[in-house]
Amino acid sequence: MSDISSPDVLVIGGGPAGSTAAAQLAMQGRGVVMVEKEAHPRFHIGESLLPRNLDILERLGVLEEVRAIGVHKPGAEFVSDRTGRSCAFPFANALDKTRTHAWQVKRAELDALLFANARRRGATALENTRVTDIRFGGAGERAVVQAQDASGATLEFSPRYVLDASGRDTFLAGRMRVKDMNKYNNTAAIYGHFSGVERREGELDGYISIHLAEDGWFWLIPLPGGVMSIGFVGNQSAWKGRKGTPQEMFLTRIASSPTVKARVAGAELVSDVFSTGNYSYRARQGCGEGFLMIGDAYGFVDPMFSTGVMMAMTAGELGAKAAHVWLDDPVRGQRMAERTNRELARAMDRISWLIYRINDPVMRSLFMAPSNRLWMRDGIINMLAGNLRGDVRAVVPILSFKTVFYVASALHRMGLGPKMPEALPTAA
Ligand SMILES: Cc1cc2nc3c(=O)[nH]c(=O)nc-3n(C[C@H](O)[C@H](O)[C@H](O)COP(=O)(O)OP(=O)(O)OC[C@H]3O[C@@H](n4cnc5c(N)ncnc54)[C@H](O)[C@@H]3O)c2cc1C
Repeated sequence: MSDISSPDVLVIGGGPAGSTAAAQLAMQGRGVVMVEKEAHPRFHIGESLLPRNLDILERLGVLEEVRAIGVHKPGAEFVSDRTGRSCAFPFANALDKTRTHAWQVKRAELDALLFANARRRGATALENTRVTDIRFGGAGERAVVQAQDASGATLEFSPRYVLDASGRDTFLAGRMRVKDMNKYNNTAAIYGHFSGVERREGELDGYISIHLAEDGWFWLIPLPGGVMSIGFVGNQSAWKGRKGTPQEMFLTRIASSPTVKARVAGAELVSDVFSTGNYSYRARQGCGEGFLMIGDAYGFVDPMFSTGVMMAMTAGELGAKAAHVWLDDPVRGQRMAERTNRELARAMDRISWLIYRINDPVMRSLFMAPSNRLWMRDGIINMLAGNLRGDVRAVVPILSFKTVFYVASALHRMGLGPKMPEALPTAA
């Protein structure tokens, strides 16, 4: 075990990616210091988990703890403002049936639990301490990392390896100027917590609802204590010319969606209203001599399919493995770090293909009434359940879905083929 000022690994940020990596490294006997600028519990967005998360929670030994703070989530429902139709995607129909549910959690509780677990496993976990500077030495030399604690005192660490899990702050990618914004997904989100929102019942009890509006989409995520998390994600045109406080803008947006408005009648806002801009991005270079970026610190895609926490925790596990190997064999460790970035980038590309086309009337029509020929529907559910790491069983269904989409789009442009309900004028 190394001393706290010169650990084997320093982790910047104590969100899901950082806490997962720190716990895994500590369990392998490595000296880890995790530095978090805030104090847990603290608000964070990203409340809907995916079935594939459960494997990671189990490996971390916190499955039952998370079950106790979660709302059972057996699937995802999509609702169209244009047609009023809805379509349910139960995880039980995914090609991979090993996990058929997930949970929805208040992130303040989940993140505090994961952070405490990393500490319990042996990581030194500092709160109210912000990493402010980093200098990398040459090959074989330790980095020098500076941080500031709540009293304003400067702390200095000299780790052998650095995992950047600083989330959307993108500490390293920002400093290295390697952050590429995605010009095709320049959206922004506005969100808050409500009580008294109509919840789905029966088979749909616990489902996340994604309401597809004219110029964006809403999430409705049922949380413990009768709370409903609601958020709106829209592109530039959805915000143009809008005036008022964030709360006024948010409530106006809700009122503009017939299907969301109907569920929110009589509800009460019980939190502040938050917003996040400058949405999707990826680091051109995600690793190098003695460092690796994981989770949102490496890249971010639109959260329509609730992939963020699962991908952050996957990167946390892969990042911990790469760091563990690097400490004994830097050449092999660097190859694993590059593979970690590649795998995450591919997973983001797989899910982005669907997200960036969701406003297309043909895509919306196919998506809202998916055929299960060649297991296309079940292949999509497989993706929605978080199976994004090149599941071989999903190759044929997803390729078939893409082919149907391209053929249907071409026919639609020529005025041929079946009617696309999402392309018809909205009912008055
Ligand atoms: C609007 C919106 C909705 C979303 N909805 C979902 C959803 O439903 N489901 C889902 O799975 N994902 C969702 N996400 C994505 C999800 O929030 C993230 O992918 C996830 O939190 C990433 O985890 P992380 O550990 O990489 O980063 P974070 O959770 O952001 O953790 C990073 C941590 O680093 C700390 N930090 C930052 N800089 C420093 C520093 N210099 N020094 C020390 N500490 C630092 C921060 O305080 C933070 O605690 C959503 C995202 C957005 C924007």
